[in-house]
Amino acid sequence: MTCDGVTLAVMSETCVHPGCRIILGLNADGLCSWHDPVRRRARKQHNGIPQGHADIEDLPIKAITSMEDAEKLAQWVPIAIATGALGGREGMALVSALREYRMTAADADFMRQFEELKRKVIAAKAKGMDI
Ligand SMILES: [Zn+2]
Repeated sequence: MTCDGVTLAVMSETCVHPGCRIILGLNADGLCSWHDPVRRRARKQHNGIPQGHADIEDLPIKAITSMEDAEKLAQWVPIAIATGALGGREGMALVSALREYRMTAADADFMRQFEELKRKVIAAKAKGMDI
């Protein structure tokens, strides 16, 4: 079905960004003007927002809940710095925060293993094992 030469099936496609329902102005990758990084960067420049100030829409993830999330963000940082989506100082702050997250996660993992080992030793002693 067409409407003034535009296929309605095309008009019903939405932006491929998760959760976005915008149907107008999609680029070749299926991103709307809000989620297309090139148009978003141009809009920020037009609005006088300094280069290197990444907003949440620029990030590959919206929260860090696992090491995989931290890895995705760590992989994005050098590209973001190289393309101007993130300033060098902001990039270094992000790398520092990621390092802290990794160390905290490693500490938490170590404590879980220690508590599990402690529980096993207590259980073994309760069974009369000499440990
Ligand atoms: Zn969108």
